[in-house]
Amino acid sequence: MDIEKRISLLEKIAQDEKVALETLKEKIRQGTVVVPLNKKRKINHPCAIGEGMRVKVNVNLGSSWEADGIEEELKKLSVSIKYGADTVMDLSTGKNLKEIRKAILEQSPVPVGTVPIYEVAVKAMEEKGNFSSITPRDILQTIEEQAREGVDFFTIHCGLNRKTLEVFSRQKRVMDMVSRGGAILLNWMLAKNKENPLYEYFDKILEIAKEYEVTLSLGDSLRPGSVLDATDRAQIEELILLGELTQRAHSKGVQVIIEGPGHMALDQIETNVLAEKKICQGAPFYVLGPLVTDIALGYDHIAGAIGAAYAAYCGADFLCYVTPAEHLRLPTVEDVKEGLIAFKIAAHAGDLARGNKHAYIRDEQVSRARKKRNWEEQFELSFDPEKARAYYFRDRQKIKDVCSMCSKFCSIKLVDKCRKFLIK
Ligand code: SF4
Repeated sequence: MDIEKRISLLEKIAQDEKVALETLKEKIRQGTVVVPLNKKRKINHPCAIGEGMRVKVNVNLGSSWEADGIEEELKKLSVSIKYGADTVMDLSTGKNLKEIRKAILEQSPVPVGTVPIYEVAVKAMEEKGNFSSITPRDILQTIEEQAREGVDFFTIHCGLNRKTLEVFSRQKRVMDMVSRGGAILLNWMLAKNKENPLYEYFDKILEIAKEYEVTLSLGDSLRPGSVLDATDRAQIEELILLGELTQRAHSKGVQVIIEGPGHMALDQIETNVLAEKKICQGAPFYVLGPLVTDIALGYDHIAGAIGAAYAAYCGADFLCYVTPAEHLRLPTVEDVKEGLIAFKIAAHAGDLARGNKHAYIRDEQVSRARKKRNWEEQFELSFDPEKARAYYFRDRQKIKDVCSMCSKFCSIKLVDKCRKFLIK
């Protein structure tokens, strides 16, 4: 990004993050922090992602081939903003994806990301019923069109090339490949016996990204989709390639984020974060979960938030939320809310453990309000005041300064009565 031309934007971000402007600028120059914002867009809540910044949470929105209501996606956007999403991605693969993207771009006060290969694939599927009619030109044109419309960041699955594909094909995985973009490109590459255009024309993509100041999120087609596949050779081979592409992007002044797992047992998360930081020159790490077990159907937001909290503690910068609907259906508005709050808690837990003093202050305020049994103050400081309030008032007791959990045996109140005997 052009740092000097965007100084007022950076001043606002530095103020929000409570970091010195010079520090922020230096980290952007080094590529360890990105500010995803297309030069054509003006938004109320820009953000910085990366080293020394608060951990950010992304919400995935967007229609599917079976459910493509614009109104529903806009409701999801509004819930996402209400509960603190730092960015949203429009992952639409329904027939009206252009309209949905336009509406989200118009209404979102936070950065918006997309996966341009989805639009190309939807068009090909509508016209021919498969992906073989796609040409590299279609892909580049779509990327440029979306950049012109103002998309702030793109997922580009450029880490799947002939070499990583060969390693992948020799790998005995349980889940093969679970990335949607990766699977589309795999089909195309095999049908055409050609190189992945997102890899082959990476320099052209960099030119577009540079012109519109779009941040590239280098997608991980080979991310593990089962804990049994985590940290295998195919995943690491792709990460090494993403490291090389990061270097190329940085040399052209293009901001880059690296996408990561996926499904992964807790014991492997720290290694994966360290590997990404080392191999990709400290570029911000954007983890998709990670889900720490494969068996949490209906509760995958919890499996994901556990992995996300630990990943954040280990140095991941950007968390892609997971909803309870993961692996089961397109999320509803309520699923979006549940998933987002789970990941806001994970991000905050990461911030606390990383020593972010502002995260610490918020916890201190809640604890002090709890000690005073000041319910309203606790509600207001929580992630979901409405839910907290509804829980409290459902069982509201005659004794107003305790809750129904311990009631007359409220330890906080009992100890308060002994206050004068306690040395403070
Ligand atoms: S009643 Fe029990 S749970 Fe409720 S505030 Fe008092 S100590 Fe906490």
